[in-house]
Amino acid sequence: MDNLTFIREAFSTFYSNNVDRVEIPKSIESREFGFTLFKEGVMVRHKGFMNPEDLKDFIKRNVPSNVYYSAAYYSVPEAKMDEKGWLGSDLFFDIDADHIPTKCDKKHDTWTCKGCGLKGKGKTPEKCPNCGNESFDEKTWPCEACLETARSETIKLIDILMDDLGFSDKEVKCSFSGHRGYHVQVDSEDILNLDSNARKEIVDYVTGTGIDAAFHGLEEVRDGKTSFIIGPSLDDIGWRGRMARGLYEFLLTAVDVDLKRLRLKKRTIERILANRDEILESWKVNGPWNIVEGLGLEGWRKIIHHSIAFQSAKVDTVVTVDVHRLIRLPGTLHGKTGLLKISFPVSRIEDFDPLKEALAFRSEDKVEIYVDEAPAFRLGDEVFGPFEKQKVKLPLSAAIFLLCKNAARVID
Ligand SMILES: [Zn+2]
Ligand SMILES: [Zn+2]
Repeated sequence: MDNLTFIREAFSTFYSNNVDRVEIPKSIESREFGFTLFKEGVMVRHKGFMNPEDLKDFIKRNVPSNVYYSAAYYSVPEAKMDEKGWLGSDLFFDIDADHIPTKCDKKHDTWTCKGCGLKGKGKTPEKCPNCGNESFDEKTWPCEACLETARSETIKLIDILMDDLGFSDKEVKCSFSGHRGYHVQVDSEDILNLDSNARKEIVDYVTGTGIDAAFHGLEEVRDGKTSFIIGPSLDDIGWRGRMARGLYEFLLTAVDVDLKRLRLKKRTIERILANRDEILESWKVNGPWNIVEGLGLEGWRKIIHHSIAFQSAKVDTVVTVDVHRLIRLPGTLHGKTGLLKISFPVSRIEDFDPLKEALAFRSEDKVEIYVDEAPAFRLGDEVFGPFEKQKVKLPLSAAIFLLCKNAARVID
């Protein structure tokens, strides 16, 4: 049996028994649906369903490798793009380890040039250094460290959406993407009709793009012949407070090279490091602005600018700005992992365990497969691998995971 047939059969069994796990989006009749099918491997889109039963039947009958729906609402979802009649769109954020540099991607991510077969580790280059080809086979892994990075970005995003922009926990919905990240969706009348430009403004806000401390309370004040600096406080609202907290976080752990990168003078760097405790303590009063000799307004501005990354949320801009975007439907399987995209309340973001709760295939029956190469990975409470060119007997969930990743093949 070939890999695709094996995976499709497993997906088919899953949907036959669990089709009610598919989450039906609000106003299903106004949404566009899209699917990729195992055989054709192409995207079928512009589908519409009048009711939940039709959608579930379609999924059971066709067993798609991926199921998507539009964040947008349309008058005629099945029409051509420019004839659909756009009615509005949920506000959608994608936080994916693919877009966040992690220390471990060099360990577990690989690319192979489709032109010359050159292999490499870490982030895929834009062009093959050997032949200049621009298309690659990529293998990325939902490793624990990458997922934790995505989680911490998601926590920051939720915080900004609720604390700064005022959405409630009923309007903000969270889900694990089924692969390497999280989705956050805002379902609120207030954002429904925002165009791409307005959504870009929101992205700029959550990513802290273009923020300048000079407009957020950092300034030099003259008093007769003396002058001193004032700046934001830790408990200020919005980006004022976020800047101060980002700066605090940065100074808490900054080492020599971190400060050198900001092109501060050697003496200034030494003074910052030597007075770290005093600087952190100073937040209880007026902040650190005037206690480091030789560090003036411009210096602080540079450090604050760098510290914004500690508080901003690294979302994928393109996804949020696209008001016609198709997004994976919660309660369906991810074709690259066999894991579920699964929703959970925002209050669970800290303790949600994606590699446990997104498991779809719980059968204990073992399947023997041949694994080409795979790093160690955890599913549920068990760690598997690393594997290299070997036969191995695995529970169905782990076997499907490696087959979906194209890292293994079925043994007849
Ligand atoms: Zn090449
Ligand atoms: Zn990783």
